Amino acid sequence: MITRSEGSSARSFHKITFGADLIVAGGGLAGTCCAITAAREGLKVVLVQDRPVLGGNSSSEVRLWVLGATSHMGNNNRWAREGGVIDEILVENMYRNPEGNAVIFDTILLDKVIEESNITLLLNTAVIEATKSSPGILASIKAFCSQNSTEYELVSKLFCDASGDGVLGFLSGAAFRMGAESREEFGEKFAPSAEYGELLGHSLYFYSKDTGKPVNFVPPTFALNDITKIPRFKKFNAKEHGCNLWWIEYGGRQDTVHDTEDIKWELWKIVYGAWNYIKNSGNFPEAKNLTLEWVGMIPGKRESRRFVGDYILTQQDIIEQRAHGDTVAYGGWSIDLHPADGVFSEKPGCNQWHGKGIYQIPYRCYYSKNIANLFLAGRIISVSHVAFGSTRVMGTNAYGAQAVGMAAVICREKNLLPAELLNGMHIKNLQQRLLKTGQHIPGLAYNEETNLVHDAAITASSELRLSDLPEANLMKPINESVAQLLPLTEGKIPKLVIHAHSEEQTQLEISISISQHTGNFTPDDILERKSITISPGRNCIRLLFETAVNVSQYVFLIIRKNPKVKLYYSEKRVTGILTVFNQVNESVSNFGYQSPPDDIGIDSFEFWCPQRRPEGHNLAIKMEPALKCFSSVNIKSGIARPTTQPNAWVADWNDEKPTLTLSWGRKQKIKKIILKFDTDFDHPMESVLMGHPENVIPFCIRQYRIYDDQQNLIAEQKNNYQTINTICLPTTIETEKLVVAVDHPSDQVPASVFEILCFEC
Ligand SMILES: Cc1cc2nc3c(=O)[nH]c(=O)nc-3n(C[C@H](O)[C@H](O)[C@H](O)COP(=O)(O)OP(=O)(O)OC[C@H]3O[C@@H](n4cnc5c(N)ncnc54)[C@H](O)[C@@H]3O)c2cc1C
Repeated sequence: MITRSEGSSARSFHKITFGADLIVAGGGLAGTCCAITAAREGLKVVLVQDRPVLGGNSSSEVRLWVLGATSHMGNNNRWAREGGVIDEILVENMYRNPEGNAVIFDTILLDKVIEESNITLLLNTAVIEATKSSPGILASIKAFCSQNSTEYELVSKLFCDASGDGVLGFLSGAAFRMGAESREEFGEKFAPSAEYGELLGHSLYFYSKDTGKPVNFVPPTFALNDITKIPRFKKFNAKEHGCNLWWIEYGGRQDTVHDTEDIKWELWKIVYGAWNYIKNSGNFPEAKNLTLEWVGMIPGKRESRRFVGDYILTQQDIIEQRAHGDTVAYGGWSIDLHPADGVFSEKPGCNQWHGKGIYQIPYRCYYSKNIANLFLAGRIISVSHVAFGSTRVMGTNAYGAQAVGMAAVICREKNLLPAELLNGMHIKNLQQRLLKTGQHIPGLAYNEETNLVHDAAITASSELRLSDLPEANLMKPINESVAQLLPLTEGKIPKLVIHAHSEEQTQLEISISISQHTGNFTPDDILERKSITISPGRNCIRLLFETAVNVSQYVFLIIRKNPKVKLYYSEKRVTGILTVFNQVNESVSNFGYQSPPDDIGIDSFEFWCPQRRPEGHNLAIKMEPALKCFSSVNIKSGIARPTTQPNAWVADWNDEKPTLTLSWGRKQKIKKIILKFDTDFDHPMESVLMGHPENVIPFCIRQYRIYDDQQNLIAEQKNNYQTINTICLPTTIETEKLVVAVDHPSDQVPASVFEILCFEC
């Protein structure tokens, strides 16, 4: 029992002080991925999150699906899902939660953080004060947890603000901007007029559920009475819920930090008014058995402060795909701006324009220009309002935050401040360490000499020579133009043979195209066209092209839409081999062709996107000579996803024991082995609401065994589904060879490996 006599002076809260190498304010996806990355490299991290769970807008409190450069598979960014920790989280979520239950996603984030002994996680704890040791240096922060009535003092040399509103940047005096820049300020032609936009607003959603029996709904007194005040009220229906209702948006003309509670009330009025309309207007008899299962209590915030770093990313960086020597991350979501009047605007809910490929984000966007020990992560990074329209999505936020986590590691090791990494070889070191842990950085390859595989001779039991994707009992009409992506090396286009069927004579338009910008997947350069006469019945189409390619790259064999003709497809799927379709995906403003208004600084081009499995078959096609792009030496290319080539070793279909052998000719000391497998970087893996038909990616190696030069089994995995497998051997082994035996994932998919790394420690 506790008793206290009356006190004459005021009491203080219980107080705890923590010292750490890095303090991360905000446990959204950015803060979470930053903290995990740093902790795995040995930093002591305190992660302070003012809510009961992690994930910010991706958590069950808000329920937005995580997206990034893959853009729901609706743009031309092939194999662009973000790698590293965010990839591990999304792959895990797909395995445990293919149904997209937001509560399960919460548990995955919590699991990933509590697994890290270097992270002290403070939930329900809000950062409320900052202390500085000099005008440009943060010394400590104060945070308060209302659940345990405890005040924390958190002391560190390095801080990261990942709080969405930039609470730490604000308190510490970091320079920031809020609202839209004019066209003139950065020469951004897509900068909105004052009439269109200022800030993007907040949103709240609801989930509905069929109870199997009629349910009445009596609206709360505050529900919006007249739903017709919302110009798009006719879009409400009884089927859609969750983040499909992203357009219930409000607050873009208010102070999106300090007016948040008012904005939330307005959104509640709209949500309950919309539900009242669905239940009680009589227009939706199908809603009779529906009940409101959940209504958001915390609004999803899109935009507030953007902090100023040593570089401000702009529209031109995105659209022109400008290269930066200090690139640590990339983006690929469209530039996606919304009318500031949100749901009360007569305009469409968003104005999205895509780039032709992914764009680079430099390290200089990820720290404050005037608070020398403050990193920035998440939506607050140093970008213009227009560029923010793209960088704000959570896959991109998390990806940049991983770079921040790793930068903090180097700062700690070398006793440097964030901006000092720009000197000497530190950025190269940062990029290499990110590549090692799964971050793809456009144009860079992992080549650290500590990786023993660097000096190994690599042989394989077989290497796929792709001469034939055999026909299955699968014919599909060409309702949309289709292209087979073929990774070709310099030289002539191989002879290609495909088969088609038609009931009547018709013409088929076929072309060979490439991307003007190497590494893109926008076929904007037509090399050669053919018009082929198709006769009734089965046609064998032999394609001999005169043209050649002068650098290794993916080539598009394009067959234009002709619904009278059916093409023969294959059931075989191979790492880095893909069909894409000139298809529409309205959810990301892909209408087949992007034709922006004049003078907004955006390109016109066609969309060519893959189909989700179980669709997305390859064409049945023969190639002569065979494609030889699946060599075993690819495992030391330093690139662990398809780019201009598949960058993978792929075994022959008929190889019964696919095996890679790494030989050094002298003993090597090995403690750690890292294997990188194909979990289909084209798959967006939307984290909530949208279900997925598979919980393991069909290209992924499930079972493997690793042997030393004495044929001792040193590691084994029987149920892998992850992209990266890191094996820390119980003791350092000495061996001249490593033999990695893998099983084909299935009869239809040959075994493949992107990368193997070995280290002495
Ligand atoms: C309606 C809507 C639709 C969107 N659609 C998508 C989409 O489909 N896919 C997508 O990927 N992105 C989408 N976005 C964008 C994306 O959700 C945000 O840009 C992103 O969540 C920002 O990430 P963050 O980590 O910076 O912030 P947040 O996700 O907001 O995380 C910040 C965290 O910091 C915490 N925090 C705040 N203040 C403090 C404090 N004082 N102390 C401690 N912790 C604090 C917050 O509670 C929060 O958990 C959408 C956004 C909105 C609002």
